[in-house]
Amino acid sequence: MKITPTEQLFTLFNETALILQEELDCTYLEALAETGENLFQGSILQEELSELTVKRLKKQYEEIHLQKFSNEEIRKAYQLVILKGMKENVQPNHQMTPDTVGMLVGYLVDKFLKQSSFRLLDPAVGTGNLLTTVLNQLNKNVASIGVEIDDLLIKLAYVNANLQEHPVQLFNQDSLEPLFIDPVEAVIADLPVGFYPNDVRAADYQLKAKEGHSFAHHLFIEQSVRHTKSGGYLFFIIPNGLFESEQAPQLREYFKDQVIIQGLLQLPTSMFKNKNAAKSILILQKKGEDVEPPKQALLVDLPSLSSAAEMDKILIKMEKWFQENKG
Ligand code: SAM
Repeated sequence: MKITPTEQLFTLFNETALILQEELDCTYLEALAETGENLFQGSILQEELSELTVKRLKKQYEEIHLQKFSNEEIRKAYQLVILKGMKENVQPNHQMTPDTVGMLVGYLVDKFLKQSSFRLLDPAVGTGNLLTTVLNQLNKNVASIGVEIDDLLIKLAYVNANLQEHPVQLFNQDSLEPLFIDPVEAVIADLPVGFYPNDVRAADYQLKAKEGHSFAHHLFIEQSVRHTKSGGYLFFIIPNGLFESEQAPQLREYFKDQVIIQGLLQLPTSMFKNKNAAKSILILQKKGEDVEPPKQALLVDLPSLSSAAEMDKILIKMEKWFQENKG
């Protein structure tokens, strides 16, 4: 059986990460970031390795010529090894954004942003899987920025962007602290859902809870809107219950003031193990002069993505909406 380019790269990442994990006595994901960096730099950067290990690694790297692989082949192989590593210690809020969601977000960004060059921010960039899935679909000049609080995830994102040759500006910090970035035309984010423990910081937000801890996902929305230009678009992966929590009235008020809801796409529940964990893609536009709401928001209930016929119908519906509202 012939192995695909993605399988070939997966094997390289996996085998070299296992060697480094053992020699450096670190986790698989840490070793994966190290091997990715070696591959990108074209040299073995870890000084503490034995001669024999250096030889074994060199032999493996020499068999691969990165320039022969497409960005999507690199991204998919890297995503698969990360998934393997995440199985060792999963944290629900660290999960990578799945391809199907990334593809839809990419499609939407491409449709809403007509300009040939723009700035794109992902304030919860994680491993960079969502961001690079979107970048790989855009045939435009995009300057992108990613922010992530977790040291290891941002390292994985940095290696991911390097291997795919995407010049992403990355910041390793809490996104709800002040961000030193120029305003962007678009934001994408698979929002971390839950309480934000820092009440002092939360006090700086209109969407802070009246009592107790605030919702991180609400504050993320406000922070993203702050950093978006008037008329810019925001694409959030949100929990389906966003508008039903006890803090939802505040969120609705804030939306009325600051943004236009352009669309809401409910992802198929079959994508989620637990129905209560199901998510949607929310599309907002920041208010501003000459920014008009659509005649009707784009409301879509996505069918199971495995049903090609159903999916075709939805795509036709969406294309029609774009012609009528964004033509
Ligand atoms: N789209 C990402 C990907 O494809 O890998 C996954 C995003 S994941 C659902 C949410 C991310 O938000 C996690 O990586 C988490 O570490 C990050 N996060 C949570 N709270 C944060 C904060 N206050 N500032 C920055 N990042 C944060």
